Amino acid sequence: MLKNLKSVSVILERGRCSWGRCYFCGWGRRYINSSIRDLMNTFKHAISSRKADVLKIFCSGSFLDERQFPQDFVLWCLSQAERAGFNHVVIESRPEFIRRDVVDALTTFKIKIHVAIGLEVADDHVLNEYYRKGMKFSDYLRAVNLLHSYGLFVRTYVLVNGHPILYNNPEYHKKVIKETLEKIHDISDSIVIINAYPHSNSVLFRDWLIMRWRPLTYEEFISMIEEYYNDYKIEIDSNNFNFLPRFPKEMKVKIVGVGCDIVRHPYFEVWQDYIQRFYTVPEEKKYVLFVPCTYVKPYSRSITHRKILSILFKTGTYKKVQLVVVSTPGVIPYEYHDKYPFESYDWPEWLETPEVMKCYIEVTKERVKKFIEKCCKNVELFVAYFHKNSETLQAIRMAIEELDLKDRFVEVIDDDTFHSILNEVGKGKRLGSSILRHEKALKKLEDVLKSYVK
Ligand code: SF4
Repeated sequence: MLKNLKSVSVILERGRCSWGRCYFCGWGRRYINSSIRDLMNTFKHAISSRKADVLKIFCSGSFLDERQFPQDFVLWCLSQAERAGFNHVVIESRPEFIRRDVVDALTTFKIKIHVAIGLEVADDHVLNEYYRKGMKFSDYLRAVNLLHSYGLFVRTYVLVNGHPILYNNPEYHKKVIKETLEKIHDISDSIVIINAYPHSNSVLFRDWLIMRWRPLTYEEFISMIEEYYNDYKIEIDSNNFNFLPRFPKEMKVKIVGVGCDIVRHPYFEVWQDYIQRFYTVPEEKKYVLFVPCTYVKPYSRSITHRKILSILFKTGTYKKVQLVVVSTPGVIPYEYHDKYPFESYDWPEWLETPEVMKCYIEVTKERVKKFIEKCCKNVELFVAYFHKNSETLQAIRMAIEELDLKDRFVEVIDDDTFHSILNEVGKGKRLGSSILRHEKALKKLEDVLKSYVK
């Protein structure tokens, strides 16, 4: 019924979800301190900015819960939506707030009201043992009957991959989804199948950190639900792929140390999983420039990176070259360089040992390999800007060799340039940055970019 209709969305957040304990949900755990006046302004702005058939009101909880949204405000929103010319409005609620007295007040409007219920699955065992929804399928059925008896419409949210048990048992998972859709298809006016992604305050996010659960890629998600893709009632929510690994405030600690456990730190591993499975180098960028990290963070504040960036701008290659940092946390496309924990770690080089560096090179090689294989489908050339003795460069070389890409790989600093700079700056601490900031090295970088980037 709502599928393919043009819609406008507005997010109204206030107070806290009355339940707030769903396994996969982080939004419902937060308390949002916003005034009704602020919400009215947000609402007015949203409905005046674009015209559409459908207005969707999202609220992280229940729009029909009086403690979250006073009834006067709910009725005001509906009348404003009606007056603005929308034909349909979607609001969200848990079943316990879909009561006769509440629903009765909604029937005075001409606008078609759709109440979206986050059922997730029509299976009481999964609902309560895994999803911790605090409701049963029968609660949903009662609410559906009541809404229909008042001429209102039912929209049902179905969740895919909201718990490690389901993630690790794909056949069981498919069976639960199939049975759910069989049970709700005829009694729902519209259905949205949603791919679970890790909200920062959810238990699911912590499961990802220990790799007990992983978000599904678009292809994995579609393979679970492809038979429903063209159903006239069913919408697929795949916009969730804009998510990032967002760490809650209390988990944000500075990661300091040297060791294999640091290289494989769960926070770094989660990011590498995200980058390898959800990131693609933008199509217009046919060149990848690998560079090292810097002591100063975010890296873009360091002199070395500022100089590298100025060469990219000077040569006019910035839009065609994807800058990628390779370091302890792994492979970091520059878009993410200022995200936690990439701006909050420290690797004291003086504590390095041969065993640690062996581990670092092996892990980094695998990460670079996966990055090239999974994220660089349209990349034509890989360029490395490192000093000759860098362990990171060794790892990149090994990855390039194992992928048989030597003819698409360029090292900016050749032996002559390296030794000539070494004679000037000498050996010692921060050798890498002294070399990479040196005008001879930067001139080489400029020449390489000018000659290869077309
Ligand atoms: S999924 Fe809905 S009911 Fe559950 S905690 Fe989140 S907002 Fe509340």
